[in-house]
Amino acid sequence: MAIRRTPATIGFVPTMGALHDGHLMLMREARRRCDVLVVSIFVNPLQFNDPGDLRRYPRDLDGDRLRCESVGVDLLFVPDSDRMYPDGFDTTIHVDRLTRGLCGAHRTGHFDGMATVVLKLFNLVRPHFAVFGEKDFQQLQVVRRMVRDLALPIEIVRRPVLREVDGLAMSSRNRRLDPEQRAQATALVAALEAAQAAAGRGERLSKKLIAAARAELSARPLVRPEYIEVVDSESLVPMTVVDDSSRILIAAHLGEVRLIDNGPVYPRAAGD
Ligand code: AMP
Repeated sequence: MAIRRTPATIGFVPTMGALHDGHLMLMREARRRCDVLVVSIFVNPLQFNDPGDLRRYPRDLDGDRLRCESVGVDLLFVPDSDRMYPDGFDTTIHVDRLTRGLCGAHRTGHFDGMATVVLKLFNLVRPHFAVFGEKDFQQLQVVRRMVRDLALPIEIVRRPVLREVDGLAMSSRNRRLDPEQRAQATALVAALEAAQAAAGRGERLSKKLIAAARAELSARPLVRPEYIEVVDSESLVPMTVVDDSSRILIAAHLGEVRLIDNGPVYPRAAGD
């Protein structure tokens, strides 16, 4: 890219589109730090273990274009699948230990597909930095590990989870919730808060915090928990006894929609 040969700083926000304020927050952060802001929209087939989920993933390219313009995106990159994965494509990026648990244990191949496309996008866009949200916490840690392990010359900037007024983490998938499901989806943030409250009262055992979180999910019949785990924020290894580095992560299904959320066990200590 000719821009790369100028002194301009290139900032990058990779997305799968159906953009919401969480994405725009990442773009504003990038805009502040760079001369040329590149956003990609690519619903990456490699990271969908469930073909139905890929088919149903929300798409809104016209709306996305307007949203990108509203925050001053310079270049919107919307590659198609055949260009990204031409016949004969044969390479996979695998980050090992960080992808074994949590979403990695439930979505076979998801993080390989994600890491592969992120590295390819990095090579196509050649940004100086890229902004990722803590909403996809395991993804963020996998990308950071890949960047370190492969010495990629890219800074990874992270931003906290942006939430709706009732606390639900913003997600493209929220559009697919019916009104009843949408009302019960706040169970995920209620579960995080219940665990945080228990930790705030001095509870140190992960299993007690998980039980407090699980009780919130169980109170909403439309919510089917997939996992609730307390892990070390860096290694993502489950912890028996929590400390300042602990993070609680949750995945749950409402009908066909799979939602995730996470937060530090000690919100203030972790700087959120
Ligand atoms: P996606 O389009 O879901 O692949 O997300 C693209 C980027 O936006 C990822 O870095 C996500 O972590 C981030 N993101 C999505 N939702 C939120 C949110 N509610 N708050 C902060 N970042 C988010």
